Amino acid sequence: MDYDYIIVGSGFGGSVSALRLSQKGYKVLVVEKGKWYHANDFAKSNWNLRKWLWIPFFRLFGIMKITIFRHVAILSGAGVGGGSLVYANTLPIPKKAFFDSGSWKDLADWEQELQPHYQMALKMLGATKNPKLFDGDVGLKEMATRLGAEDRFEATNVAVYFGEENVTVKDPYFGGEGPDRTGCNFCGACMTGCRNNSKNTLDKNYLHLAQKNGVEIIAENEVYDVRPVDAKDGASGYEVFIRSSTQLFKKKKKITTKGIVFSGGVLGTMKLLLKLKLKSLPNISDRLGRDIRTNNETLISVSTLDKDKNLSKGVAIGSILHADENSHLEICRYAEGSNFWKLLHLPYATGNNVLARLARIFINALKSPLEYFKIYVLNGWAKSTVVLLFMQTLDSTLQFKRNLFGRMYSIVSTGAKPSPFIPESIQLTEAYGKTINGKPTSFFLETIAGIPSTAHILGGAVMGKDETEGVIDKYNRVFGYQNMYIIDGSMISANPGVNPSLSITAIGELAMSRIKENWKE
Ligand SMILES: Cc1cc2nc3c(=O)[nH]c(=O)nc-3n(C[C@H](O)[C@H](O)[C@H](O)COP(=O)(O)OP(=O)(O)OC[C@H]3O[C@@H](n4cnc5c(N)ncnc54)[C@H](O)[C@@H]3O)c2cc1C
Ligand code: SF4
Repeated sequence: MDYDYIIVGSGFGGSVSALRLSQKGYKVLVVEKGKWYHANDFAKSNWNLRKWLWIPFFRLFGIMKITIFRHVAILSGAGVGGGSLVYANTLPIPKKAFFDSGSWKDLADWEQELQPHYQMALKMLGATKNPKLFDGDVGLKEMATRLGAEDRFEATNVAVYFGEENVTVKDPYFGGEGPDRTGCNFCGACMTGCRNNSKNTLDKNYLHLAQKNGVEIIAENEVYDVRPVDAKDGASGYEVFIRSSTQLFKKKKKITTKGIVFSGGVLGTMKLLLKLKLKSLPNISDRLGRDIRTNNETLISVSTLDKDKNLSKGVAIGSILHADENSHLEICRYAEGSNFWKLLHLPYATGNNVLARLARIFINALKSPLEYFKIYVLNGWAKSTVVLLFMQTLDSTLQFKRNLFGRMYSIVSTGAKPSPFIPESIQLTEAYGKTINGKPTSFFLETIAGIPSTAHILGGAVMGKDETEGVIDKYNRVFGYQNMYIIDGSMISANPGVNPSLSITAIGELAMSRIKENWKE
């Protein structure tokens, strides 16, 4: 066998797996579809689509993918470090309801079992309280005070190095084993990639240490097939087929391994496994593709008309309001000059059907022409705009399926279909708009087609007591196969209602802690 374990994808689940398996003495290979980005490689603004967006068809090999389904538009990451390259660094621990609901609820006392692994994940990712609030966060705090919810406002816990601004120091996290870091300058560019070496992306912690331990990483290659060798349950290992993801003429290669970890993120893992279940891996549970959750999210932008405010200053998400037991609101920003999103935004309008919404957009624009002219033309979009990220714990699920042409599509599985028009989110948007003297706009798909957007797609290969209830067991082992794991957002078995990367890391740590050293029984 060429390797002990091959890991498909280098996001949160993949990076934890790479480091921990290498520490247990295994020979590990990570295969990553996206590119290897270093600080200077990131786009200076999101106008540089080549470095910001991942759309291989147009030869764009950036760090963020936008995938549109009938019921949800999904933002996700690509590159060595997965979603950590593009994410907004925010690492909240979910409320109790997450641990006591969903398909995993009877399998363990999750809150207690995961507690030490959350602590380890926070430490490894270098989570720290955001020390500085800027105009956008101050607006959220003012709004919270007006709503009598000041005690539910807080600065976020973020994976950023806050040393002296722009000053580079030797590794402050891993006793000198990690890379040099530079103090954050609050430029707001985290979601186009940190060019200042301040964001604790996975290549600066888990993957960096894994490589030092001998883990090999192949970028710009995707895994397209995995077949058991001899035994049908993979007991004799697997053949893994990879091909270039960036070259026009795709070079292919076969590699063999005793074990495999699927960590391609929900979209990567679902796309691959729904295909492999048809032929190469038929034992995978029929639950595959079910229990997909969108975190009940809406993303609505609000642009201030006050010239003296600079909403682009600060880390990408600097503060959070726990609006009620189930709802959370975060302030997200892009750096000054990253104005691309305005091309895809329309004045915000709610309504039951597209005609009603279009009529409202038209009326809103006619009522405030000067304001919208300022927002779209005169004032810099990113400087005057924040994105309100609204998330809810309340549950509804989708299912991903594969059509005859191999494309994934969504159907509603349980509960109401996801909607961009959640009453609490609309109220908070109005209140925030009043606080900062701003007008709301939203992604055109939300307004025209009523399709909400999410950066937190989860589920599809959830935990269960057996293959009739889930795809994996409580330690992420795939039912029906040996030495096969799924460790990424698709294992998330209930709705966290908050940003999920910390939970993915913690659950990955728990799964890895159960694996014996170097094939010892
Ligand atoms: C703009 C934005 C902001 C966000 N902000 C936050 C935040 O503040 N906090 C938070 O907790 N979360 C945030 N998220 C979400 C977070 O990025 C994801 O939840 C997280 O990255 C998911 O981790 P994962 O382990 O599932 O895999 P991912 O991080 O998605 O990584 C999967 C990797 O696998 C690769 N891959 C897929 N298929 C294959 C294949 N067949 N072969 C080889 N490689 C493959 C992909 O290219 C990708 O790099 C944000 C996301 C976006 C897009
Ligand atoms: S605010 Fe700027 S310097 Fe700080 S982590 Fe984000 S991108 Fe890096």
